[in-house]
Amino acid sequence: MRRIVIASGKGGVGRTTLTANLGVALAKLGKKVLLMDAGFTTPDLGLFFKLERVLYTLNDVLSGDLSPQDAMYEGPFGVKVMPLGTTPEHMKKSNPARYPSLVRKIEGFDFLLIDAPAGVKREAVGALRSAEEALFVTLPETVSISDTLKSVAVADLLGLKKLGVVVNRVRGEDYEVPSKEIEETLELPILAEIPEDKSARKAGATGKLFLLSSPHRPASKALLGLARSLSQ
Ligand code: ADP
Ligand code: MG
Repeated sequence: MRRIVIASGKGGVGRTTLTANLGVALAKLGKKVLLMDAGFTTPDLGLFFKLERVLYTLNDVLSGDLSPQDAMYEGPFGVKVMPLGTTPEHMKKSNPARYPSLVRKIEGFDFLLIDAPAGVKREAVGALRSAEEALFVTLPETVSISDTLKSVAVADLLGLKKLGVVVNRVRGEDYEVPSKEIEETLELPILAEIPEDKSARKAGATGKLFLLSSPHRPASKALLGLARSLSQ
């Protein structure tokens, strides 16, 4: 089983959007996939699967009250999702320190994708520590790339295998950092360039997966290409 953390230096770069859509793309390719939210203060993953009001969440598992299966929900193509709760009570309840040992206990999937919090604070490091491989998401902008460097350094310290970078929301504007330069700065291959796409934005805003609502858009094709290369 591959345990992959989706990490970034900054928030708002599209980590959760990528985790949700990539998970469904891998499931569509026939893989057994589990998606886990690790964004304790930004628990957004469940929104893409309409799980914001479920009774049991990953918080109950982390507090020791439930087993992992009790907080797994099924999404499109059989993808399984473990959401974090969205209320302040949920936040108080969970114990993020247990995250790595919980993740290591989970078996039975081809891919386990973890939607990490941004940056390199404690909970983000916990999410990185839970995985064996890391995928980094950045915008094609200097600040985002520079912050990604710190996440890459932490992944190095923890001995993670670095798969590469997904450059998200590419518009092709002249102020954007070219992909070659991003590869040189991060010393990592670019695995996918996902274009800025209004339908991706709209899907996210309405709790949908752009891969399913706009399957023929370039963003969806880029995502499926990424899923194919990861599943080879
Ligand atoms: P993060 O999890 O890194 O904080 P999100 O996944 O919540 O980021 O995405 C941040 C915003 O960017 C959302 O409004 C989302 O719909 C939008 N977004 C993500 N990817 C794209 C894309 N390829 N094109 C347009 N908007 C995108
Ligand atoms: Mg997020």
